[in-house]
Amino acid sequence: KKITIAIDGYSSTGKSTVAKQLADYLGYVYVDSGAMYRAVTLYAMQEGIISKDNFNVEKLKESLNSIDLKFEKDASWAKAHIFLNGKDVEELIRNLEVSAFVSPIATVHEVRAKLVAQQQKMGLDKGVVMDGRDIGTVVFPKAELKIFMNASANERAQRRYKELVARGDNIDFQAVLSNIQERDHIDTTRTDSPLRKAADAIEIDNSEMNLEDQFHTVLQLAKD
Ligand code: C5P
Repeated sequence: KKITIAIDGYSSTGKSTVAKQLADYLGYVYVDSGAMYRAVTLYAMQEGIISKDNFNVEKLKESLNSIDLKFEKDASWAKAHIFLNGKDVEELIRNLEVSAFVSPIATVHEVRAKLVAQQQKMGLDKGVVMDGRDIGTVVFPKAELKIFMNASANERAQRRYKELVARGDNIDFQAVLSNIQERDHIDTTRTDSPLRKAADAIEIDNSEMNLEDQFHTVLQLAKD
C-alpha cells in the first residue's frame, strides 16, 4: 500500500537527498517544496519585487496568479528539475542570492496558501515523498510517515559549501555558514515561521551518519 512520506527539518540537513533516494527506491513521486519557494523568490527577484532595499509585498500578492510551477523528472528523481513559467530554473534557484531572499518570501501568507494547495494536490494519489518545513504539520498532517531531520549548523554548512563549489560557484565558507545561521534564526524565532516538528514525527540527527546509513534508517521506517 502506498503511503505519504513527509520529511521536514532545517536547511541543508540532507532532506532532499534521502527523499529522492526513497522516491526512486519505492517508485514514488518526489516533491521538493523548498524548490517551489525558491522559484517564487526567483520570480520576485526577476520582476523587481524583492531586492536588497525593497520588498513589495502587495505586488507579490498580485503576481501570484502569473506564477506557474512544474516539476520534471529525468531518469531518476536525483535529476528532477523545476520549471518556472515553462523555463527550467533548477540551477538558478540554488544560488546564494535566492537563498538570502527566500525566507522573507516564504513568510507571506498568500504565497504559502498557494504553494500548500498545489502541494496537497500533488499528494492526492499517495505514493509521494515531500520534503520541506511544514509538510508533516500543514501540508500532510495525516502522513503515514513523518521524519524530522537535523544536523549541526557547521556540518550542514560544510555539505552545502561542497555542493556549491562542485557546481563552480565562487563563494567562501563563512558566507554559506552565515546564510544557514540566518535562515535557522528566521525559521526558529519568527512566530509565523513554517518550521515546526510534528508531534508524531521521528527525529533523525544525521551529523554523524553517512548517506547509506541515513537511507537505510529511513527506508526501514517506511517499511514498518
Ligand atoms: O529546502 P530549502 O532550503 O531549499 O528551502 C528554502 C527555503 O524555503 C527555506 O529556508 C524556507 O524559508 C522556505 N521553505 C518553506 N516551507 C517549505 C519549504 C521551504 O518555508 N515547505
